[in-house]
Amino acid sequence: MRIQADLHVHTVASGHAFSTVAEIAAAARMTGLRAVGLADHGPALPGGPHPYHFSAMRFLPRVMNGIRILRGVEANLVGPKGELDMPSPLLDRLDYALVGFHDGCGLKPASIRKNTRALVAAMAEPRVRILAHPGNPAFPVDPAELVEAATAHRVAVEINNASFTLARSGSEEPCRRLAAEVARQGGWVCLSSDAHVAVDVGRVDRAWAVAREAGVRPDQVINRTLEGLLRFLGLPAT
Ligand SMILES: [Zn+2]
Ligand SMILES: [Zn+2]
Repeated sequence: MRIQADLHVHTVASGHAFSTVAEIAAAARMTGLRAVGLADHGPALPGGPHPYHFSAMRFLPRVMNGIRILRGVEANLVGPKGELDMPSPLLDRLDYALVGFHDGCGLKPASIRKNTRALVAAMAEPRVRILAHPGNPAFPVDPAELVEAATAHRVAVEINNASFTLARSGSEEPCRRLAAEVARQGGWVCLSSDAHVAVDVGRVDRAWAVAREAGVRPDQVINRTLEGLLRFLGLPAT
């Protein structure tokens, strides 16, 4: 399956990624995408951008090189009650937020129960529409409980391609279980590249293989078509 939008792409602003917005837009066009979502890390990640970066996203054109540019963030969970490193007014200026656990942001891995509760609590923030790599085995979660809450909040569970190539080794089994719950409960999946360099933009082949084998249907993938994605995010069509 081909996706039309990749919602998890990092620019040089993340501090440890290597491509500019222009390079990412060009790569997105080359690979046949219609939209790309810039989702640099939230400010709590060491080397991450200052909060001004996110308010300055208003300077970005909505379309570059024929590619729709969506304004996002990969926000960090920084407290056990779903506290994020992005204040609500800043999130409100963006098109969407992913939220996830990252080492070095103050919140240490805890029990399955505590990790799950933190992620579920973060979904109360309206801009949070995607859970970033919740299949990370370093921060284990309860798949049934997490997907139940995500489905109720209309939040998508990300299956992250980089989890099977470059990062978070051991993600296959937790991702399979999460995808199976999405299939069973009728929720949503987001297939993402988590590209840290432009050549990886739109690369979701491994992620789709895991989701499909677990029973996820194409119509459960929020970023399969641009029109469907914009409806899911509540964004205008143009
Ligand atoms: Zn991440
Ligand atoms: Zn990322």
